[in-house]
Amino acid sequence: MKCMLIKYASEITLKGLNRRSFEDALVRNVRSSIGGHAVIKRESGRLFVNDYSDEMVEKAAKVFGVISVTVAEIVEKDIEMIGRAAVEQLKSQTGHKTFKVETKRGDKRFPLGSMEVSAKVGGVILRELPELKVDVHKPEIVVNVEIREQAYVFTGERKGVGGMPYKSSGKGILLLSGGIDSPVAGFTMAKRGLELISVYYHSHPYTSERAKEKVVELAKILTQYTGFMRLYVVPFTEIQMAIIENCREDELTIIMRRFMMKVAEVIAEKEGAMCLVTGESLGQVASQTLESIFVTNSELAMPVFRPLIGMDKIDIIDISRRIGTYDTSILPYEDCCTVFVPKHPKTRPRLSEIKRSEEVLPAEQLIRNAVLGAEILNFKL
Ligand code: ATP
Ligand code: MG
Repeated sequence: MKCMLIKYASEITLKGLNRRSFEDALVRNVRSSIGGHAVIKRESGRLFVNDYSDEMVEKAAKVFGVISVTVAEIVEKDIEMIGRAAVEQLKSQTGHKTFKVETKRGDKRFPLGSMEVSAKVGGVILRELPELKVDVHKPEIVVNVEIREQAYVFTGERKGVGGMPYKSSGKGILLLSGGIDSPVAGFTMAKRGLELISVYYHSHPYTSERAKEKVVELAKILTQYTGFMRLYVVPFTEIQMAIIENCREDELTIIMRRFMMKVAEVIAEKEGAMCLVTGESLGQVASQTLESIFVTNSELAMPVFRPLIGMDKIDIIDISRRIGTYDTSILPYEDCCTVFVPKHPKTRPRLSEIKRSEEVLPAEQLIRNAVLGAEILNFKL
């Protein structure tokens, strides 16, 4: 009999009195990701699922908090039975000349220590498959044995995404543009357990329907990890036109960014979220100098998380490739910022000057219209 064996982050098992709620979140997320009615049992840092398939392994590996997934043979806690299961596994994966047995003994009442189990199981393997040799330093294949309520035998593990269970660390608003950075920022925070609601500022008709479709596609890719995603498509044209008509050209970007944040904060309050998340990286563009970030941030009550702030573009691209957002992010549709970019944006805005320039704008009304005009889309895995 086989089962899916899921290992999860030791960080979760170290949560003391809160451990249970983190594990509950993890089990819930694994269940909704793999679907079906599998029974999921937990035992010291492991989940055992009484159902398995390649597809389920792939899906479970994408659940935040999961370190690895494998399909294990369940056998009686008997050396001969464990040995035979190990032999079967090795036979099904030809081409190896050297192996090693690694044992974890969760059941401390089991009469043999983990080294002894490894040695004895190794003995059975050598007897049945004499062409193989033991190499404890650089084995071509490792046979894993875990002794718990029952014994589990497996070779090879699919690496999981890691992190903390999604929704175990509160809720935040992700400012999701069509670019490379913001999906990576969202992924990074979701991986720490932050539940995300996405907000996209759409400048119809200056940005096309295809630009919006691109953001929708990115939100859907993130849904593969989060299971669910709400996306607010916020009409942003009125705000941009008001700025263009009333403010200095070189202050357009910074004032626009201040509005983005304020609108996001209103949506956060409405959704019960407590932080904002952006894809900013220090110095990447004019709006991401320290002075610009200072001015963008100054009126906000909520923390703004910028998980990419200290990262280079090259590293961000790496992650975006790995999580599957890159190909969509580089599609060449304009976003609202590329349509309305001043020729020489201020790189060192001064807060007092920006506030003075903004005074002419009916800020409250503009923000209210944007929030009320938002289209709300929900995506489910
Ligand atoms: P990205 O690659 O994420 O688009 P960027 O390098 O293009 O980022 P900016 O355009 O300055 O940088 O945007 C910085 C951050 O502001 C983005 O990472 C995103 O979080 C947010 N943002 C920018 N434009 C939008 C938009 N149209 N809708 C929602 N959020 C946006
Ligand atoms: Mg962008």
